[in-house]
Amino acid sequence: MRIAVLAGGIGGARFLRGVRAACPGDDITGIVNTGDDVTLHGLRICPDLDSVMYTLAGAHDAERGWGRQDESWRIMDEFKQYGAEPSWFALGDLDIATHLVRTRMLDAGYSLSDVTAALCQRWQPGIPLVPMSDERCETHVIVDLEGQRRAVHFQEWWVRYRAGLTAHGFVQVGVDDAKASAGALAALSSAEVVLVAPSNPVVSIGTILGVPGIREALAAGRAPVVGLSPIIGNAPVRGMADACLPVLGVEVSAEGVGRHYGARSSGGILDGWLVHDTDTATVPGVRVRAVPLLMTDDDATAAMVRTALELADARA
Ligand code: GDP
Ligand code: CA
Repeated sequence: MRIAVLAGGIGGARFLRGVRAACPGDDITGIVNTGDDVTLHGLRICPDLDSVMYTLAGAHDAERGWGRQDESWRIMDEFKQYGAEPSWFALGDLDIATHLVRTRMLDAGYSLSDVTAALCQRWQPGIPLVPMSDERCETHVIVDLEGQRRAVHFQEWWVRYRAGLTAHGFVQVGVDDAKASAGALAALSSAEVVLVAPSNPVVSIGTILGVPGIREALAAGRAPVVGLSPIIGNAPVRGMADACLPVLGVEVSAEGVGRHYGARSSGGILDGWLVHDTDTATVPGVRVRAVPLLMTDDDATAAMVRTALELADARA
């Protein structure tokens, strides 16, 4: 079976491990958010692609949630000695090697898709990973800072300010001139089922959906689309998604997110929506099922993937 998965960073990475475990031998593609990407210290950094790549390879730091296992921070310390800003974005020594290889390849003219494939040659994630787009379309957040309304890069808002500055909106800078990557479009057009990972609905999944061509491919595709809620109760399982949803006027609940995604039959993206077993949701035009959605290990995640595939089938 051909399965395409829309994924952000940590939630996307864990989910993809479950898809890989549930569907050995199937043709799975991870379409990964690149709206978080940023250039710092001259290095091109793709946090979500790296989270997914390291996690699928088992090379991630599970406790920290991002970056490499057995990481060290000597280069960071050197940056500090030089007073080289920004100091709020941690970069590990091992991780920096990834960013150097990526930056050098991009500078040499390779696309981000090519670079990602090259990095994955080493890490063997077992699932082809493609960026949502090869063009830069970075998320910026509209905030009030030092008495002025301005747009700061998503990473600055998220990491430096811990999403503590009131956001007035999200903007994908460059999105009008961007297009979906060829790999993303190929995966979506040939998919027999599309899964939407329990990733941040605004700054991970919303960003992917914002890329010209992606929504159209979902709408036109014959594949049913099933999503999983990242919200359990009235809070994200991890992270600060609750700082993003209200900016779009979306209730922080599984139902709120399901309705925000909407039914494919009425211009949205979903045919099926999985919520946690303690939640209920009514989403017009969408088949909803409640099952445990805590990705505590690959087996638990694989079980939810199997339910998602059943729900996809149920539509046909
Ligand atoms: P990021 O890019 O690293 O922020 O990661 P994602 O956007 O892929 O995922 C973040 C989302 O994953 C958060 O909104 C969390 O609520 C969600 N999440 C993390 N762990 C779990 C889990 O075990 N179950 C569910 N349902 N959602 C989770
Ligand atoms: Ca992210």
